Amino acid sequence: MQLPCGFLGSHLCERLLAEGHRVFCLDNFQTGRMENISHLVMHRNFRLLKHDITEPLEVKADEIYNLACPASPAYYQANPIQTLKTSVYGAINLLDLAVRRKAKILQASTSEVYGDPEQHPQSETYWGNVNPDGVRACYDEGKRCAETAFFDYQRRYGVEIKVARIFNTYGPRMDPDDGRVVSNFIVQALQQQPLTVYGDGNQTRSFCFARDTIEGLTAMMSSPHTVAGPLNLGDPHEVTVLHLARRILLLTHSESGIKFDPLPQDDPVRRQPDIARARALLGWQPTTSLNVGLKATIAYFRKELEENRLAARRRKSAFADATAYPGKQAIQVAQAPRTTAVRKSSPTQGQRFTYE
Ligand code: UDP
Repeated sequence: MQLPCGFLGSHLCERLLAEGHRVFCLDNFQTGRMENISHLVMHRNFRLLKHDITEPLEVKADEIYNLACPASPAYYQANPIQTLKTSVYGAINLLDLAVRRKAKILQASTSEVYGDPEQHPQSETYWGNVNPDGVRACYDEGKRCAETAFFDYQRRYGVEIKVARIFNTYGPRMDPDDGRVVSNFIVQALQQQPLTVYGDGNQTRSFCFARDTIEGLTAMMSSPHTVAGPLNLGDPHEVTVLHLARRILLLTHSESGIKFDPLPQDDPVRRQPDIARARALLGWQPTTSLNVGLKATIAYFRKELEENRLAARRRKSAFADATAYPGKQAIQVAQAPRTTAVRKSSPTQGQRFTYE
């Protein structure tokens, strides 16, 4: 199994280990955070590999989850070419691996494939409205192309694929610095700073609690092979960004105000998943209300702030600076299995990295 140790990936690792699976966690640590999985590294069924999936790889796996790629607009736009490569080359490398290993493979796709949707709510039959040249396109089109690769590998090689379109997800272990609306608002509220609402705040999103999303992903992986998707995984409860800001102010008992900043380019106006398919095929639907999920997330950030760990997290790569983050390198060495680059031909590139 392969999955990264970002916010959602870490919850997924935890869940799969609890179910008794052996987990190989792959991450290039561009945005993945060591803190998210530090409690797992000593688990006997857990292996952590520092690998960039834009490079081909070989590793034993019977189920592959592809959650690789920064999902926050600020992060994925910071290095758009890398975002595109991670989505497209990464998907192809993992699909090649799935072919060789006869593994099931799940793609964490996104509601961004619908772009700025003209259909509301968004159902899987809608083809979307994406600006192919805009600043969000590296992510949106990259993820769309990845979906194309998944369905072509299914048709061409008979790979058992699962394509899940994940809508906005939030919860404990979100990166406080990645610029997402939920983490921004909570941190701002707890620090008594004004909440930065972009535009007039009337744009909508539908926020799903991480535990519910993970439930959906694992349910999809265990679904019959006929269930390939795409399937929307999200919470259908739609709220405006302004409503979210006010709700967070209320739940944090914060005295912060609200300030209005310019709306980023191509920011979708409305987003709400139609989850009828996931309900019918997986028997899945979110069960955590926004209030309950926000309270748990606020408690997480409150603790983080109290422990004064936010400052230590202002960095992009967990392994980039071993001096600043002693112990991380040690964990990598202690946990990383034998890693060899072998020269073998692969369907996409000449070199493949092999892990055991
Ligand atoms: N947003 C906001 N203030 C912030 C961060 C985001 O008003 O500090 C808005 C953003 O413009 C968008 C919505 O909140 O309309 C969700 O943004 P996020 O980056 O969390 O997710 P995405 O745009 O990818 O759905």
